[in-house]
Amino acid sequence: MTHPVFPELSGRRAFLTGGGTGIGLAIARALAAQGVAVAIADINLKSAEDAAAEIGNSAIAVEIDVRKRSSVEAAFSTALERLGDIDILIANAGVSTMQKALELTDEEWDFNFDVNTRGIFLTNQISGRHFSQKGSGCIVNTASLAAKVGAPLLAHYSASKFAVLGWTQALARELAPQGIRVNAVCPGFVKTGMQSREIEWEATLRGISPEQVFNEYVGQTPLGRIETPEDVADVVVFLCSESARFMTGQGINVTGGVYMT
Ligand code: ADP
Repeated sequence: MTHPVFPELSGRRAFLTGGGTGIGLAIARALAAQGVAVAIADINLKSAEDAAAEIGNSAIAVEIDVRKRSSVEAAFSTALERLGDIDILIANAGVSTMQKALELTDEEWDFNFDVNTRGIFLTNQISGRHFSQKGSGCIVNTASLAAKVGAPLLAHYSASKFAVLGWTQALARELAPQGIRVNAVCPGFVKTGMQSREIEWEATLRGISPEQVFNEYVGQTPLGRIETPEDVADVVVFLCSESARFMTGQGINVTGGVYMT
């Protein structure tokens, strides 16, 4: 598949969290294909290093735990130093666990909120300060279909992702006067490691087979196939480009039509 070319992105520098696998890895590849130098930041340093090695010279790997301010500050300043500057933040690191709402533990709630919501707050604030200082920049947060509609067995995850959209809208309004755009993507049923784990959990919790769960996902998708990480990555690249210059505060559904508003 050929990627759209946005020449204005060539030479830009991006800080990407959760870039070692899944949607993040596809975003790293898609940005690199546009000539963007990418700092792939992940809690799993090995996966970030493998991704950077695959992508080549322009990519670097950085260790980060998006739950911790000191870790985000250290990773961001390492990336700034090694790439010379940062123009784009892709805040994509995320986790999900599946549990019935009535059986959810405090630990599970906190884990999802710490990575998915606090992680967005910290990465957006630290890079936002940098962008604000230099008077330009672009932020794309990974939200979810579950940020638009509450998903059963994912009440805690849904709540953590709804919060991401609220934050995205508010920050977009605060930073718009400086020309800094803040948007989010809302992926649906994407084929990643996270999805494999969710399918297994959902099958167990509902007492059906993983194949049945998978077929239900496809059946609910008007475009009639399972979503790929590349489907999401291409939209993220578009949101970083000048073609999206008048878009801010949006949560763009990339779901094959599963959710339409
Ligand atoms: P997705 O479907 O969102 O692509 P994955 O589980 O494949 O889901 O990818 C999520 C990425 O986020 C992984 O690379 C994972 O290592 C990363 N990640 C998870 N928790 C953290 C964290 N606390 N800090 C940084 N990265 C994290």
